[in-house]
Amino acid sequence: MPLVTTKEMFAKAYNGGYAVGAFNVNNMEIVQGITEAAGELNSPVILQVSKGARAYANHTYLVKLVEAAVIENPQIPIALHLDHGDTFELCKSCIDGGFTSVMIDASSKPFEENIALTRKVVEYAHDHGVVVEAELGTLAGVEDEVAVEHGHESYTRPEEVEEFVTRTGCDSLAIAIGTSHGAYKFKASQCTRNADGILVPPPLRFDVLHECIKRLPGFPIVLHGSSSVPQEFVKIVNQYGGNMPDAIGIPEEQLREAAKLAVCKINIDSDIRLAMTATIRKYFAEHPDHFDPRQYLKPARQAVKDIVAHKIVYVLGSDGKA
Ligand SMILES: [Zn+2]
Repeated sequence: MPLVTTKEMFAKAYNGGYAVGAFNVNNMEIVQGITEAAGELNSPVILQVSKGARAYANHTYLVKLVEAAVIENPQIPIALHLDHGDTFELCKSCIDGGFTSVMIDASSKPFEENIALTRKVVEYAHDHGVVVEAELGTLAGVEDEVAVEHGHESYTRPEEVEEFVTRTGCDSLAIAIGTSHGAYKFKASQCTRNADGILVPPPLRFDVLHECIKRLPGFPIVLHGSSSVPQEFVKIVNQYGGNMPDAIGIPEEQLREAAKLAVCKINIDSDIRLAMTATIRKYFAEHPDHFDPRQYLKPARQAVKDIVAHKIVYVLGSDGKA
């Protein structure tokens, strides 16, 4: 099947009590690793491109890589989504350039400005058969060009969601319930430590999620910043010359709970970065004489595939739902 929007994906996910993974793509190995896992597990998948990815790899290269993945995996629905579009022009460029879904993130702007810009993108997108994700509330952390200092994040205010969705006409809504961008989702002072000295983050605000669901029955909710930062990868990175002290993510069981509710899209990027980096660092340490990029990118691609397969089965629950 050709690239699809997320409309039907989300309707099925909402009713089926699972979420669709939205994984960031930046190069061929990442596209292949993600879609091979989704293809083998018969799972729908969203490939998302950030402004930074577009700057790194070029719009056309990324679209063509995704189109190749669609041809290689004809049995599963794949959507191509713009992650964190920050202007109408960027969204328009992606809508005109083959994307099936865009995010307009005006969450840092005042409520009325967020509504106005989101509405403008929705009108253009819907005229072109493309769906729109919007955001209310701000996440802490750093992801590409989105950076919010810890302490400056704000939870979504449930009393605003109904008016926002009605007035903008957006198709899905990203909310802030305590997830965070990057591999350092919380400061040590926000956490406790377990017996192994590993940071334990504060729990997600399920009360905020439930309030939003109550006000938006049947409407797809999105969670950004939902990597779990597996400590086995952090350990490998640090063991082989890296320096990532106190890297920390969102516990997978909390995301699984959210996926069973109205959360239909869960964004995962840092875990893919970590899996690749840990694999390549270890590979270089064990094979100091190797210099063919295929030698170390092959296990890196396999690591992407393995982590995505793990997410599909144990976090998203989207296996067999294509
Ligand atoms: Zn995000």
